[in-house]
Amino acid sequence: MTELIKYTAAETAAAIAKGEVTAVEVARAHLDRIDAVDKKVNAFLHVDHEGALAAARAVDAKRASGAELGPLAGVPLALKDVFTTRGMPTTCGSKILEGWVPPYDATLTKRLKDADVVILGKTNMDEFAMGSSTENSAYGPTGNPWDLTRIPGGSGGGSAAALAAFEAPLAIGTDTGGSIRQPGAVTGTVGVKPTYGSVSRYGLVAFSSSLDQGGPCARTVLDTALLHEAIAGHDPLDSTSIDAPVPDVVAAARTRDVRGMRIGVVKEFAGEGYQAGVMQRFEESVALLRELGAEVVEVSCPSFTLALPAYYLIAPSEASSNLARFDAMRYGLRVGDDGTRSAEQVTALTREAGFGPEVKRRIILGTYALSSGYYDAYYGSAQKVRTLISRDFDAAFAGVDVLVSPTTPTTAFPIGERADDPMAMYLADLCTIPSNLAGNAAMSLPCGLAPEDNLPVGLQIIAPAMADDRLYRVGGAVEAALNDKWGHALLEEAPAL
Ligand code: GLN
Repeated sequence: MTELIKYTAAETAAAIAKGEVTAVEVARAHLDRIDAVDKKVNAFLHVDHEGALAAARAVDAKRASGAELGPLAGVPLALKDVFTTRGMPTTCGSKILEGWVPPYDATLTKRLKDADVVILGKTNMDEFAMGSSTENSAYGPTGNPWDLTRIPGGSGGGSAAALAAFEAPLAIGTDTGGSIRQPGAVTGTVGVKPTYGSVSRYGLVAFSSSLDQGGPCARTVLDTALLHEAIAGHDPLDSTSIDAPVPDVVAAARTRDVRGMRIGVVKEFAGEGYQAGVMQRFEESVALLRELGAEVVEVSCPSFTLALPAYYLIAPSEASSNLARFDAMRYGLRVGDDGTRSAEQVTALTREAGFGPEVKRRIILGTYALSSGYYDAYYGSAQKVRTLISRDFDAAFAGVDVLVSPTTPTTAFPIGERADDPMAMYLADLCTIPSNLAGNAAMSLPCGLAPEDNLPVGLQIIAPAMADDRLYRVGGAVEAALNDKWGHALLEEAPAL
């Protein structure tokens, strides 16, 4: 392993800016790493060797011209294959989009390019971001670099695995019910779901529009903050984009001081189904926060127990509507268009062949929940639960600055273990879903290895909407204290590769 791939994003950018290394050397080191390990990991669906090197050459030319470089100039990144990229395939992990090359960049893609970030390629994911293991990808599962027979989480398993395998120091995910945080937790990396509406959804292929949120992933809290800063902010092309200043997450990540902060432990996120080693590491993190000078109290959010069923009505309902656009006329795959069939028949054949079983299950569930006669009983009730969950958060945040919990009830499970059991799969997001329903901000960061299986455990931090900086303040302090205690970063204990 060459040293360059072990640099943080902040170190990489500094080394390029000082001329200690070129952006082309950095890009090559990561492309070589991908060539060497990605056959085993399958984090990438598409690697853009030429595009990445061209972007890196442009950064080197910019530096040579004396122009000032941005804080992430020349840093390589792995982009979840759910954001459109002009001229680069975008599949959303689905056969139905195979071969589709978008004619435009998502706002997030454009911001990355404007920040001179080097996009290495597109990462594997559960089809249309539906799943918690990346096993629902039409292009095969991704392995967890800690143990390739285990899942890297989902839906953004490719992005998280790329970080843990040192294929990229930065990655982008999307989080509808946990797809940034849960992969972060099970791969020992950091992931943030920003406040809903603070990172543009323009060009993010929609799963559940009222829940979807793009966000930053990295191996350190500071790197995550630098990426957060680069992608967040108002976008007139997204009607749900918040027109307000983004909190200073980079300064917050550098504070490393939680003295006087009030931290609430969510009582409901414990008990049956929670792995003993996960709870042990979580409780140690809470004790650490106390040692660091935070005031810790227990908080009850009774409606959180209803979050999972409410999510599995709201998300499929929105998905059934959003995925209607894949009609064989506009994008990608078209099946059975031999001149004898009607447009409706071609649409039906294409959707039958192009969508996988989980996507079909959700379309059927969502269509049913929205149908007349059932709408009030299912979708309407779920929306009421959503309000109750927001009220629980409001009540909790009246007394504390942030909430904490384990990110996931268990560590990474074996590939195949839950593949035929949707309910077991859905439980992976028990602790992450409430934040999507309420639209607030949340982070997962590594807090150690579970003693029983030596696999990473995630600590979740939740902050009120537009107080994303609090995540970084608490996360930065915990990370620094844990690295001090262990004498190294968690990923140094490294994985299966
Ligand atoms: N695992 C959840 C689901 O399957 C969340 C997915 C996501 O956040 N995109 O819907």
